[in-house]
Amino acid sequence: MSTNDPKGVLVVASRSSHKVTELRRMLGDALFERGLELLDLGEAEVRFQRSLPEVVEDAPTFAGNAEKKAMAVAQIFGCWALADDSGLCVDALGGAPGVQSARYSGVEGEGRDEANNQRLLQELRGVPMERRQAAFVCALCLVSPGGAVSHVEGRCRGRITDSPRGREGFGYDPLFLTEEPGVRPGCTHAELTAEEKDSVSHRGKALRKMRDLLERLLARG
Ligand code: IMP
Repeated sequence: MSTNDPKGVLVVASRSSHKVTELRRMLGDALFERGLELLDLGEAEVRFQRSLPEVVEDAPTFAGNAEKKAMAVAQIFGCWALADDSGLCVDALGGAPGVQSARYSGVEGEGRDEANNQRLLQELRGVPMERRQAAFVCALCLVSPGGAVSHVEGRCRGRITDSPRGREGFGYDPLFLTEEPGVRPGCTHAELTAEEKDSVSHRGKALRKMRDLLERLLARG
C-alpha cells in the first residue's frame, strides 16, 4: 500500500536503473515485510512533489560519496534514504578507476560503459593476466528520517580480461572475470545470471549486510 508519510518510505538515492533494479531485487521483500515501501528517486519526487538538486560526487571515498547522496535525500524528503557508491579498483593501476569509475572515459550518456571499458583495456595493454587483479567495491549508506547514519561495504575479487564477454549486467561487468568461489569459474560478471551475480557481487554482499542492519533497526521500532 502506498503512503504519503515519508517515514514509511525508503528512497534509493540513485538515478541508475541498473542499480535500483539490483537493490529492489535484493531488498524489496525484507522492506515490504517490515512495512516500508521502496521508491526510486523519480517516484519519490512525484510522490512528495519535490526535486532533488544534483549532488556532486566529489568525496575521495566510496563511503563519503554514498553518505552525501543518502543525506541529501533524507533531508529533502524526511524519509529513510539508501545510497550506493560503487566502482572498480584495479591493482596494477594503483586502485584506479576507483571513485572515478563512472567518469573514467569522460563520455556521458549512451556509449559511456563501452568507452569506459575501452579506456580500461587501453590502460592495461601489455599487462599480463597474472597482474590484472581487481576488485569491485560497493559502499552503502543508510540515513534514517531522524538523520542517523550507518555504513556497510561489500567487495568481490576478480581479474580484468583482455576482451569483453557476455551480455548481462552493466558497466565493467563484461571485463570482470570472477574469482569468487561458488559460481561458474572462468565467467565474466556479464556471463552470470542475475542470481549468480547477486550471490558473489560487491553489491550483493553489501546488501545482505544492509538487510540485516535494517531488520535490527526496524525491529527496535
Ligand atoms: P556511481 O554511480 O558513481 O556509483 O558509479 C559506479 C560506476 O562503477 C558505474 O558507472 C560502473 O561503471 C561501475 N560499477 C559499479 N557497480 C558495477 C557493477 O555491478 N558492474 C559493473 N560496473 C559497475
